Amino acid sequence: MKCQTVLAGTECTFWGKQGCIFPEGSCQTIAENCEGCDRVVTGSIGQVCSAYPAPVKKWIGGICNFASHVKVDFSIAELKVNPLKASKKAAGAKKKK
Ligand code: SF4
Repeated sequence: MKCQTVLAGTECTFWGKQGCIFPEGSCQTIAENCEGCDRVVTGSIGQVCSAYPAPVKKWIGGICNFASHVKVDFSIAELKVNPLKASKKAAGAKKKK
């Protein structure tokens, strides 16, 4: 149903017949880390997230997975190679030639 308070007219899964069913009856304003994110919109209570009603919680365990302004660098951890298996693999490769 459509929100009738913070983001009036916006489709929201938390809006029901009794109003907003999110804890405390409303979504919450953005966290400091949200600054610069494309999902920040202005609602009746200030800047809120268009993707998640409690932005502060999205940053508790690390970087928000919906964030558009933060890039995550994945570095490949050094692979642990079993020397015995590597040796067998190398020997197998030589036999095929
Ligand atoms: S998507 Fe994440 S970073 Fe962006 S405004 Fe929402 S909670 Fe904040």
